[in-house]
Amino acid sequence: MKGTRIFCVANQKGGVGKTTTTVNLAAGLAQVGQRVLVVDLDPQGNATTGSGLDKRKLESSVYDVLLGSATVAEARQPSPKGGYQVLGANRELAGAEVELVEFERREKRLKDALNAVRDDHDFVLIDCPPSLSLLTLNGLCAAHGVVVPMQCEYFALEGLSDLVNTIKQVHANLNAELQIIGLLRVMFDPRITLQQQVSEQLKAHFGDKVFDTVIPRNVRLAEAPSYGQPGVTFDPSSKGAQAFVEFAHEMVRRLG
Ligand code: ADP
Ligand code: MG
Repeated sequence: MKGTRIFCVANQKGGVGKTTTTVNLAAGLAQVGQRVLVVDLDPQGNATTGSGLDKRKLESSVYDVLLGSATVAEARQPSPKGGYQVLGANRELAGAEVELVEFERREKRLKDALNAVRDDHDFVLIDCPPSLSLLTLNGLCAAHGVVVPMQCEYFALEGLSDLVNTIKQVHANLNAELQIIGLLRVMFDPRITLQQQVSEQLKAHFGDKVFDTVIPRNVRLAEAPSYGQPGVTFDPSSKGAQAFVEFAHEMVRRLG
């Protein structure tokens, strides 16, 4: 596979499975031999905690990287169980939004910082906050593509239009490389007819931009963060873990 692939995991809604997707795809890719860096761009720091790091004890974080007081190489740390590296985040990151306003190329700070480690990782997965803020913009400017986790609910398609418009604007004005890699159906329950219907609508609208892999609703994925690891390593035999490993295979296959 050629070059580092940098992907944002984004959806402007909260609680749709972005962080779960980020850490489990990272662990799945690590299992198939890929060198992965997770960048936590959400001040909630859930990807940091869910990777087994104490967000209150980070020596330096993505905040320091964005403001230029640490390099990615200095600030990244291994996830103890995940098998990948993490550039962590905590509440401090919420202040970056305001502090960055004074900087030149303020939406390209992450892109510039990642450039220095581009030979170290096959994949960089950026866990975005649930907003279309300057932080998310930094993610979108640094990335080649966007992975969009979504639940198959009634307003799912409508909710996508803001994100799709933002991606189009970033593509037109700031980052011509940016594209939607795919939509990932998460927390799926095949017994719910409505979810099946929305899933079919998604495929009709977005065609092969919808990943083949479907992530089921699975309680082991929800339990794993409190054990400081992704579901993929916490309970490898669970349905959720197996789905994310399958997703990692699909990702590698698609990118060829
Ligand atoms: P986001 O990062 O978009 O806010 P999260 O990944 O934190 O969303 O997921 C929201 C909640 O749903 C969390 O409590 C998480 O553990 C749970 N969750 C996510 N995916 C699944 C799944 N496939 N099955 C069961 N629970 C899930
Ligand atoms: Mg999250």
